[in-house]
Amino acid sequence: MKIVIIGGGVAAFEAATAARKQNETAEIAVYSREKVAPYRRPALSGMVAHELEDARFFIKGTAFFGQERIALHLGAEAVKIDPATRTFTLATGETVAYDKLILATGAHPFVPPVPGLNGDKVAVLREFSDLEDLRARLDSGNCRRVAVLGGGVLGLELAASLLERGAAVTVVEAAPAIMPRNLDAEAGKLVMEHLAKIPGLELRFGAGAAGWDGKTLKLSDGTAVECDLVCVSAGVRANIELAAAAGLPCGRGITVDDSMRVAGYDDIYAAGDVAECDGQGCGLYNTARAMGKTAGINAAGGNATFAPEATPVRLAVLGLKIFSAGDISGTGEGGGDVMKYRKLFRDESGKLRGAILMGDVGEALKLQAEIGK
Ligand SMILES: Cc1cc2nc3c(=O)[nH]c(=O)nc-3n(C[C@H](O)[C@H](O)[C@H](O)COP(=O)(O)OP(=O)(O)OC[C@H]3O[C@@H](n4cnc5c(N)ncnc54)[C@H](O)[C@@H]3O)c2cc1C
Repeated sequence: MKIVIIGGGVAAFEAATAARKQNETAEIAVYSREKVAPYRRPALSGMVAHELEDARFFIKGTAFFGQERIALHLGAEAVKIDPATRTFTLATGETVAYDKLILATGAHPFVPPVPGLNGDKVAVLREFSDLEDLRARLDSGNCRRVAVLGGGVLGLELAASLLERGAAVTVVEAAPAIMPRNLDAEAGKLVMEHLAKIPGLELRFGAGAAGWDGKTLKLSDGTAVECDLVCVSAGVRANIELAAAAGLPCGRGITVDDSMRVAGYDDIYAAGDVAECDGQGCGLYNTARAMGKTAGINAAGGNATFAPEATPVRLAVLGLKIFSAGDISGTGEGGGDVMKYRKLFRDESGKLRGAILMGDVGEALKLQAEIGK
């Protein structure tokens, strides 16, 4: 049996290793368009400012793939799938046959359709090549003032790294509050006040980008940000193009059931940020891992089921430590300041449904376990 995985992120890695554990004899191959082996993608934001040793960046060293008999093809982009002949084609024109196919092609940054944002002096951060591109721009000395579009977790992590690189940073966020899905109004206000005191960092909330000409970023409220580069961190979209062109069912992601099998196809699976299970996308590292593992086991003849778990959000940059988990809508009990904040959200029966900690996040694991019960 030949199991082939298209993709080179954590979902692809987990799928390949789980397939090997499940099936000692299967031929297993991974085709990734990136030129580097699977790595811990969340590390990219910090690496804009710091080098990271290989052992902490790569999920496994290259020797691992040989030991596990997983053929890792790098710089290998799949451009067309033909489910009828169980083959796909690479950008080089080579055709690859499979018995079971796992699509783990991830997602790409969403760049809002704003005039000028598809042009020059715009950067995103998703793949290793994006990191190299951004570092080169910063190294050139021509990016002293940078606007970050998006005030979510990734936008703030990126802003922190850019500040460390000596750039003056303006974070532009269309929503009126920071991290609105992860912080209640009180915590959001405290975080905004904290960030407003950081030298070199400016916050522009409640106005989105309206136009970019390479020098001036116009905002929707009529104001403008003068800068040398715009970094877009405004969410992601699943890389469904390959699957959609092959006729596979897709919503925002490729439609899979809880075995990660693509609806209507016995021999094709999808996992990670490219997949949509029960109408829910992925978007988180540990969820992509779990989906990849499920797909790998099942493609190799096993029987695993993906059970989504509420994954908490953590942020530890710019002097902040934030943990947010579960459902934080409605009224919570507690409060504090940005260095010691604790708010718990319970349902009518008193069960913990959500929590926010700031500053001292020592209780995070305990609260997470309680929410998951
Ligand atoms: C900077 C950054 C910070 C993040 N921080 C966090 C965090 O703190 N916590 C968290 O939970 N999540 C975080 N995430 C999100 C997390 O990294 C993703 O949810 C996770 O990486 C998804 O894994 P994946 O394997 O599904 O997809 P991806 O990691 O996107 O991997 C997909 C791979 O497939 C390859 N590929 C795509 N198309 C093709 C093709 N046609 N042929 C061959 N290869 C192809 C891509 O090049 C890529 O290597 C962060 C993401 C980024 C970018």
